[in-house]
Amino acid sequence: MNRLRQRKSKPWASCVVLPASLALIISSGCNSGVHTSRADRRTLLGMAVLPMGNPKRQTLDDVENALEQTFKLSVIELKGVDMLKSAYYSPRSRYRAEKIMVSAPKVGLSKVIVVTDKDISTPAHGHEDYGIMGLGQLGGANCVVSSFRARRQIGKTAVHEIGHTLGLPHCPDAKCIMVDGKGKGLMPDSSSKFCAKCTGKIRQWLN
Ligand SMILES: [Zn+2]
Ligand SMILES: [Zn+2]
Repeated sequence: MNRLRQRKSKPWASCVVLPASLALIISSGCNSGVHTSRADRRTLLGMAVLPMGNPKRQTLDDVENALEQTFKLSVIELKGVDMLKSAYYSPRSRYRAEKIMVSAPKVGLSKVIVVTDKDISTPAHGHEDYGIMGLGQLGGANCVVSSFRARRQIGKTAVHEIGHTLGLPHCPDAKCIMVDGKGKGLMPDSSSKFCAKCTGKIRQWLN
């Protein structure tokens, strides 16, 4: 069953963000047909973690702590699911992030973040299959993160990907958590929070 969790953590990442034009499942704002105030929407929104492929408890705790501390929301943890077989990329023995992302269920108006310890990849940086830490869609409902490459920065990666779903593109400020990792792996420790500009854009989702 779903349950609420509460904890503490660390965060960050290098990821690929898909443009909303790829038309994955999106329903937000005025287009959702739900008419609520911003405060109501923030309450309704919430965030849900979907464990995939039996990730370690520490991985889930790190993600949930980082999201709760950043967005001051209770994060719901959904019942875990097996790795998505159709996302398996046999030439590299890893899973395609874009397929995992669109497979996530809709949970009301919540953002759903799939969390796994397995290696994930997507076409990026000129490669047909590129290993990544996370994948999010601008303004989309879902995102996915993996501890395989993010390791201790899994919490930071989760906040970064959720930032994309809230409509934030990559940020030029090297100290901002929305800085583009450019597939180089771990992010600088300095990039742990949203910069003032990004904060302004998603102020309604932050404390
Ligand atoms: Zn990104
Ligand atoms: Zn920023």
